[in-house]
Amino acid sequence: MSALRVRLVPCRSDNYAVLLHDEDSGETAVVDTPETEPIAAALEEEGWRLTHILNTHHHGDHVAGNRALKERHGATVYGSEYDAKKGRVPGLDVALKDGDGLRLGDHRFDVIAVPGHTLGHIAYYACDAKMLFAGDTLFSLGCGRLFEGDAEMMWHSLDLLRHLPDDTQLYCGHEYTLSNGEFALEVEPGNAALRERVEEVRELMRQRRPSIPVSIGREKATNPFLRPQSAEIRDRLGLEGVENWRVFAALRERKDAF
Ligand code: ZN
Ligand code: FE
Repeated sequence: MSALRVRLVPCRSDNYAVLLHDEDSGETAVVDTPETEPIAAALEEEGWRLTHILNTHHHGDHVAGNRALKERHGATVYGSEYDAKKGRVPGLDVALKDGDGLRLGDHRFDVIAVPGHTLGHIAYYACDAKMLFAGDTLFSLGCGRLFEGDAEMMWHSLDLLRHLPDDTQLYCGHEYTLSNGEFALEVEPGNAALRERVEEVRELMRQRRPSIPVSIGREKATNPFLRPQSAEIRDRLGLEGVENWRVFAALRERKDAF
């Protein structure tokens, strides 16, 4: 099996689309389509024909390029069953639910339902390549806002993702890492791994380079939204002896007001 080639495509002001290419079969996927032109240009530059569009959720900054890219390349559009029923993924061909899988050449992807940011949100996990495409559910050093789901639901989704192997590479939908890191330092200033990561991200931003991918293991050590068990965070929030989801809920509320 050939390696999956990966190319991050910056779109709009802070979105990422991710191109995935399997050399053996020539198949190419894009995870989310924030806008058409940068994705079309990257495909052209690589000489890849788009075969799969994998949507994480229905928000405009994740599906805006679906129809034009589908028309141009004849790609198949995948999205969640929930969003399919709502008719809110443009050009959708294949509806996916939790536990479903799909293939790009010989590479298998698992579909994980991760409701919270939206009720139909799904993540894609490339099993052999150990890559997670988390959309707006899990960001580096942060997580998505709760537009449709509640905190308990979102916590359950994040808890699933934090149980993936530590060497899984996280790809997320936005470059929010530095501002997320500033909030993270507010709630867990004693976390040395976090301080080191924020320094690294500052340097990457100075060099105009992306802060992703990053490993799940590193996120578990630094992302406050994956760390509700942290004594320091609990102490700061005055929340001892409560369930993890309640700590998560308090963190999310504080971040919304940050
Ligand atoms: Zn979104
Ligand atoms: Fe988004």
